[in-house]
Amino acid sequence: MARLDALAEEIHRRRATAIGYPNNQNTDLEEFYRWYEKSKLYEVALNNVGDPRLPSLFALNTHQLENEVIDFFAPLYGFSLEDCWGMVTNSGTDGNMHGMYFGVKTLQHANKALPVCYVSEEAHYSIKRLADLMNLELCLIKTDRSGRMMVEEFDKALDPSRSALVVVAMGTTFKGAIDDRAAINAVVRERKPVGVYVHLDAALFGGYLPFTTHRELVDRKLADFDSVAVSGHKFFGCDEPMGFFLTTKATVTRTNPFNVTYLNESVPTISCSRNALTVLKFWWKVQKTGKAGFEEQAQAILAMAQYLKGQFDKLGHEAWRDEHSNTVYFHRPSEEIMKKYELAPDYDDRLGGALAHIVVMQHVTVELIDRFIEEVRVSRLNG
Ligand SMILES: *Cc1c(COP(=O)(O)O)cnc(C)c1O
Repeated sequence: MARLDALAEEIHRRRATAIGYPNNQNTDLEEFYRWYEKSKLYEVALNNVGDPRLPSLFALNTHQLENEVIDFFAPLYGFSLEDCWGMVTNSGTDGNMHGMYFGVKTLQHANKALPVCYVSEEAHYSIKRLADLMNLELCLIKTDRSGRMMVEEFDKALDPSRSALVVVAMGTTFKGAIDDRAAINAVVRERKPVGVYVHLDAALFGGYLPFTTHRELVDRKLADFDSVAVSGHKFFGCDEPMGFFLTTKATVTRTNPFNVTYLNESVPTISCSRNALTVLKFWWKVQKTGKAGFEEQAQAILAMAQYLKGQFDKLGHEAWRDEHSNTVYFHRPSEEIMKKYELAPDYDDRLGGALAHIVVMQHVTVELIDRFIEEVRVSRLNG
């Protein structure tokens, strides 16, 4: 217990200045854990194995609430409840894995050859890992200075004689750039590859965009996509990795059915056992915060990111931010500041070399930003 106490103390200490990674540290789950303790559900081995959208033979699950989480989110991304298939995932990466896997199977339904996976070179590395796992030819498309896929480069690279699995970055990892989905779709429409599947990697931005005036960016009714992955431990403030994945029922019917007799169904999920507890937390978050609460938080983080960018400008320290983004990237400050604030490093010659970024989540306050900017100012004087 002493070792656990020491670990907890150290983690609490570090939390105060953790602003370099996209985790909302305002987890606000105390009431949930009190309920959980009272419910004694820790005496039960819960498991969400099986297709959450179908009746299950194994009763010790939270499928019903999993479906309510999916039904809350589906319309926000332009899915109709009748056509939507979705689940709560282990993480954003798990959602990307299902998106790419379902994409490959959908495309192979029409054309047996493996598709080419097209993604921007600044997209999250999980896409590269997953393309590698699935033995896909990966075509990395050059980005502009702001980190967006250069659509004319996509046009040049696209091979219409092969199926295309296109992964759209809704928020690149470092600069928070959003690929131009409409322009990408226009290229696809004009060049007509033999098959197309579009997956949105919206792990971070997909959390808050539906709750802003930019919600059209993730609305599939406006620019079509086949699936989307979002993380639950980023914007939504869950205290452990989770996420959700949405696609259409038609997509799922094109995957290999592998009927599982003892589960009385065909199971489209890649993981067999799936977490039932994270579902409870996600459901609780949705109930507790609701649409109005998420709208308020989305507005607040974007306003705070704008404030941070403004403070950099006042200081005369070069910094950048996309208008839809809660990420501010800037010339890298001293090593000491990098460590203290857990800042992630990157490098881009086009922007003068060494960079760092801050991902403004709900726990980032004006006071914290002011303190940080003051430290940057002092270190510039000394540097
Ligand atoms: C965080 C992130 C991921 C990975 O999500 P995890 O939930 O950490 O697995 C993938 N893509 C983007 C754009 C991300 O921001």
